[in-house]
Parts: sequence; C-alpha cells; structure tokens
Amino acid sequence: MTDRKCAGCGKIKNRDEMIRITKDFSTGDVFVNNDSKKFGRSVYLCYNKMCIENAFKKNKINKVLKAPIPEELKGKLINEF
Ligand SMILES: [Zn+2]
Repeated sequence: MTDRKCAGCGKIKNRDEMIRITKDFSTGDVFVNNDSKKFGRSVYLCYNKMCIENAFKKNKINKVLKAPIPEELKGKLINEF
C-alpha cells in the first residue's frame, strides 16, 4: 500500500509523487521527509502550491501531526513548490 491522500485536495496518489511531512517520533521535530528513512507520523501533499496552502489554511497538517508547524517550514514549502 503506497497510495496516500493529499491533505490539501484529498486526492489519492502514489506516495512517491507527493511531499511527505513527518514528525519525528523521538524528537517531535517536524520536517520535510524526502529520503523516507525517518519514521514518524506523516502527512502527504501534492507538489502543488494550492494543496500546500489549503492544507495550512485548514490546519490539516498540525491536526494530523499533533504538533505546531514552524512558520519557517511553511514558508519553505510554499516557496519551493
Ligand atoms: Zn493535493
């Protein structure tokens, strides 16, 4: 099972085609998890600015991760994709 749901638009895609945001289970750090080698609770997003903005607007990411999302990370995501 490698399909994941986008927190922005709700579409299901292969996780390889998505941005993965993970909360590290030991440190609680929230980060963009591109190498998939770190484990923790994760949220997936399309590589799409609309999805990223939607997910932040609806506070989907911090609800799923149960952690505040650093402004820095939010800015980085919106600027990069
Ligand atoms: Zn999406």
